[in-house]
Amino acid sequence: MTIVLKFGGTSVADAAHIREVARIVRARLDRKPAVVVSAHSGVTDQLDRMAREAVTGNVSIAPLAERHFTVLRELGLSTDIAKPLLEQLDALLRGIALVRELSPRTLDHVHSFGERLSCRTVAAHFCAVGVDAFAIDAFDAGLTTDSNYGRARPLPEAEQQIAKTLKPRKGVAVITGYIGRDSEGYVTTLGRNGSDYSGAIFGNALDAEEIQIWTDVDGVMTADPRVVPQARSIPVMTYEEAGELAYYGGKVLHPATIQPAVAKTIPVRVLNTRRPESQGTLIVQSVAEEPAPVTSITSRRGVALMNVQSMRMLDQSGFMARLFDTFGRHEIVIDHIATSEVSVTLSTFGNADLEPVARELSSIAEVTVERNKSAVSIVGRGMRQHGDVVHRALATLHGEKIDPQLITRSALRTSLSLILEESEATPAVRALHREFFKA
Ligand code: ADP
Ligand code: ASP
Ligand code: MG
Repeated sequence: MTIVLKFGGTSVADAAHIREVARIVRARLDRKPAVVVSAHSGVTDQLDRMAREAVTGNVSIAPLAERHFTVLRELGLSTDIAKPLLEQLDALLRGIALVRELSPRTLDHVHSFGERLSCRTVAAHFCAVGVDAFAIDAFDAGLTTDSNYGRARPLPEAEQQIAKTLKPRKGVAVITGYIGRDSEGYVTTLGRNGSDYSGAIFGNALDAEEIQIWTDVDGVMTADPRVVPQARSIPVMTYEEAGELAYYGGKVLHPATIQPAVAKTIPVRVLNTRRPESQGTLIVQSVAEEPAPVTSITSRRGVALMNVQSMRMLDQSGFMARLFDTFGRHEIVIDHIATSEVSVTLSTFGNADLEPVARELSSIAEVTVERNKSAVSIVGRGMRQHGDVVHRALATLHGEKIDPQLITRSALRTSLSLILEESEATPAVRALHREFFKA
């Protein structure tokens, strides 16, 4: 029996938060906790800036070092804990400054220092307050990944390696989130916000009875509380809903988090470090209670729309295959799609470089690209029973004078996505929240 607790950046932001983390872990020692930690909040962004600065020849690790020293001092710990890693980071940045080049592989290496530093601080604090603990980098704990720098995925053997390394060890393992190592020995990262995913990977490998994601809000909410202050915590939801919500932009969970949990049907609980007593959100395979029409509303910025128009589509077999093949070869992930007799409209996340795709397709179709769109998604298993969600959503947007450009509903009827202007996303989410949650 074990549980995995993952603490996000704000949960380990400073000495006061780390003390709270120790209290939370201590209260759960009977459940044999393993802990996965993020970097102190803002540190990964800072490392990212430092790496890019280094390309221009500027290296200064002093502010980052000071941030870590301050946390250590406030916890009454020696700054020597951080020094070896800070020296390595300094040498790495000087190397970048020398060659004036930053490859995705090197960027992952730079990014990895945040988690490696914070995990040592957290483990040292646990020991200082009498909780037997040790710090371990995820790659030393068996997390090997492929070599997709910036979005690496665990190799099949990782699960067994992790179990073999960690299960026999005594004390609380404090493991780095976000990072791994490929089979050639290079450090990789699982993508920004990837520590949730690490939590689930370790939960799966250790056969945890529960994976707890500790963050700065009372669980998964009916909308991002920064957008809708009246948003409420959702007591229980399904893996399917959580997966859709994460994918469509609910930052509270990394989109890949749910996979390792689903693989072994491990419950995931999202909890608030600042209010450990609040019940948070339980995410499970199935929920018996009658669902509300909508579980949560989310939005995602930076969406691009591509419209592919061709008279030749008419009656042609293989047109779609050609279209998808082009996207596939250019590694562009298609998100939403709508078709008519003469056109296909596709949306993709993250303002990807669509020019090469557009150029290639221009020989068979007329292609236009529009950027700065948002995808607003309504997620809920209750949409299956409540047939009027689409109608209510569109009527609500109409009332706000918002006319979505692309509308898609999953065949499973658990999500409805609307692509609209970026500037319309916040008013749309607020209006939809009022409609479906009366708040
Ligand atoms: P952590 O550092 O703990 O991983 P994140 O910042 O990645 O935390 O995620 C937590 C944040 O996600 C919250 O502060 C909240 O603003 C945002 N968020 C977005 N959508 C939701 C949602 N549906 N429910 C809860 N939080 C959400
Ligand atoms: N520190 C990493 C990031 O900021 C990973 C995480 O916090 O989940 O993206
Ligand atoms: Mg996060």
